[in-house]
Amino acid sequence: MTLALYYHEDYLLHEHTPTHPERRERLQYTMDQLREEGLLDSPAVDICAPEPASTADLHRVHDGEYLDRLRYMSRRGEGQLSVDTHVSEHVWEQARLAAGGVADAVEAVATGTHPRSFVMARPGGHHAFADDGHGFCYLNNTAVALRRVQATTDVDRILLWDWDAHHCDGTQSIFADDPSVLVMSTHQSGRTLFPGTGFVREVGAGAGEGYTVNVPLSPRTGDDAYLRVVEEIFEPIAEQYDPDLLFVEAGQDNHFTDPITDLGVTAQGYARLMERAVDAADELCDGRLAASLAGGYGIEGGLPYTNLAVIASLAGLETSNIREPALYEPPSASPGVERVIDRVKERHGEYWDF
Ligand SMILES: [Zn+2]
Repeated sequence: MTLALYYHEDYLLHEHTPTHPERRERLQYTMDQLREEGLLDSPAVDICAPEPASTADLHRVHDGEYLDRLRYMSRRGEGQLSVDTHVSEHVWEQARLAAGGVADAVEAVATGTHPRSFVMARPGGHHAFADDGHGFCYLNNTAVALRRVQATTDVDRILLWDWDAHHCDGTQSIFADDPSVLVMSTHQSGRTLFPGTGFVREVGAGAGEGYTVNVPLSPRTGDDAYLRVVEEIFEPIAEQYDPDLLFVEAGQDNHFTDPITDLGVTAQGYARLMERAVDAADELCDGRLAASLAGGYGIEGGLPYTNLAVIASLAGLETSNIREPALYEPPSASPGVERVIDRVKERHGEYWDF
């Protein structure tokens, strides 16, 4: 088993402002940690260089008018898509390299170059819509990637599990009416966190009805509750959907140290979640599993450890020695998880058997 790890030094170039939570140190400290732990020299990990997404890649997902606007703003290096998403000079090129990295990583798995892949790119993508961006996102990297492999390989049905702490509003809207991509999102409830969407009642539309699955979780939901969601919601739906490829949008901002969210997942919990994704891919789609980093803002204290856990799990390496970066008392009971599982089963009972 060799994991393709897509990374480029230019992923460090993008900057909103020096104190913005989405800043270059997110990847710098993670790369230092991976180097220190020997992962970058491991025969289980191939470091791969991404190429920018092509014009055809971008037009499969985004409106031409939006692409023109973003490119123009980037050339001038001024303006903002929203209050938290500034358009700095060269963000156009940086976002294209991020989208291209995710697309290359998914393509590597779809074509069998590598059985599994992970891409550590920035800026992120899952809050980008076809015609606009916000939430630190410009281009929808994941949608660009999935549309490329659907157009150019024999992969058709894709199960996308977005476990970032924030709901993937952009990704959901792009695939809402399309049953060929099943979007499942676990996230902190929109009642308590940006972007304020991702409720159980949002199930997709038209031919895509039932192929959007939202599991909004309460603050302090921890490892055990996440694993219950995996067993009771993710695994039954995955088995019935029977995908050709599994893609995990691995936001690491569920970690208990994250400064902008309130969930309670540990680094060891992340390792367990990725192991379950590996098992599901082995069982359902010949092991074809690609994943990307999304959020994660505990820059020194959380992200290097959760990235290490996720990447080691994907590479089939030992994870039991990964330590938690801080002392933590996990929540004794995860508030409301039974209730949300019941609500999802009830709403989706007409589409899926549980
Ligand atoms: Zn996030």
